[in-house]
Amino acid sequence: MDIKPVFEKTERPIMIAGPCSAETEEQVVQTAHDLAALKIDLFRAGIWKPRTRPNAFEGVGKKGLAWLRRVKEETGLPITTEVANTQHVFEALKYGVDVLWIGARTTVNPFSVQEIANALEGTDIPVIVKNPINPDLKLWIGALERLHKAGIERMAVIHRGFSYHGNSNYRNVPRWQIPIELKRQFPDLQIICDNSHICGRRDTLLAVAQEAMDLNFDGLMTEVHPNPDTAWSDAAQQITPQQLEALLQQLILRAAESNDRHLNDSLGQMRHQIDEIDEELMRLLAGRMKLSEQIGMYKKQNQIAILQPNRWNDILKKAKKMGSAHNLSPDFVSVFLKAIHQESINIQNEVMNRAVAPTGGEEGRV
Ligand code: PEP
Ligand code: MN
Repeated sequence: MDIKPVFEKTERPIMIAGPCSAETEEQVVQTAHDLAALKIDLFRAGIWKPRTRPNAFEGVGKKGLAWLRRVKEETGLPITTEVANTQHVFEALKYGVDVLWIGARTTVNPFSVQEIANALEGTDIPVIVKNPINPDLKLWIGALERLHKAGIERMAVIHRGFSYHGNSNYRNVPRWQIPIELKRQFPDLQIICDNSHICGRRDTLLAVAQEAMDLNFDGLMTEVHPNPDTAWSDAAQQITPQQLEALLQQLILRAAESNDRHLNDSLGQMRHQIDEIDEELMRLLAGRMKLSEQIGMYKKQNQIAILQPNRWNDILKKAKKMGSAHNLSPDFVSVFLKAIHQESINIQNEVMNRAVAPTGGEEGRV
C-alpha cells in the first residue's frame, strides 16, 4: 500500500483536539477558538456518537456539521468528525469536513468499513482509522486496505487502546506492541495516540501522551471541553483548553535518534550485551522445548494427559517468587511464562497426536 500522509507537518506532536461530542454551537465554537490559540492541527467533535446503550446521548446529528463549518470559517482550523455509514459520509462531505475518522466500533466491522469505503470512492478526502476495539491488528490493517482500494491515499491511524475485561488502570488498555507492529509494517503511516480514550480519566493523560511520544508516535488526539465535568459524554476524561496547554508544555520531546558518535558507541555496546543475552535466552528456551518434547513422548507412552494443573500452578508460583526476587514485574513474569507454557503444550500435543490434530493454536494470543 502506498500511503500518503494526512498531515504535512513533521514536527511532533501533531495535535488533534476538541470535544468528545458537539453539544451546542456555543460550546463547539468557544472550544475551537481556545484551541486555535494553541495552534492545534485539527479540530475534532463527534456529531454521531456510538454509545454503548441506547438511552445515552447519541450526538446532535447533522445540525452539528453547520457548527463545525462555522469553526472552520472563523478559526481556519481544519475539522474532523466520526463517520460510521454512507449517510454520515455524504453529510460530512456536503459540509466540507476536511478529514474523516472511523471509530473503533466501526473498524471492527468489515461490512461497515466497506460501506464507508464505497461511499468514498471518487473522493480523495483523508481518513484516519482508529484501532478496532479488540486487539486484532489484521482488522485494523484490513480497514486501511479497504479504503486504499477505494482510492483513498491519505490515511493515518489513531491508537485508542483495546477493551479489556480484567481490572485495569486504563479505560482501554494500550497494548503498545500492536501499534508498534503496525508502524513496523507501514513505516510511513502517521500514528496518533488518543490518550483520552486510553486513560478514561484526566490524571493519567500526560503519562500516556509522554509514553506515546517516547515510542515515536506522530501525534495526539485529546478530548477538550470548556467545562469537562458537565460534558454530555466522556466527562471524566475531558480537559479544558488550559489544561491541554499545560499538558503540551510538560511533554518532553526526545529525538528518535542521535548523530553523536560517542553516544551511539555507548548505546551500541549496551545493545551488544542485550543481543548476547537474547541469544542465550534462545539457547535456553530451545533446551527447555527439547525437554518438553521428551516429556511429551514419555507422557504418551504412559497415557498421561499433557496438563497437570498442580504442576502448572507450582511453576507459576515459583516463577513469580523468583521474578520478584530479581525485581521483575509479576505481570511480565506471568505473560512470559504463559507464552512458554503454551509453546510447551503445543509441542507435547504435536508429539502425542502427530497424525491427528493440527497444532500451532494460540499464535499471537499469549
Ligand atoms: C471518540 O473519539 O469520541 C470515540 C467515540 O472514540 P472511539 O471510537 O475510540 O471509542
Ligand atoms: Mn469520547
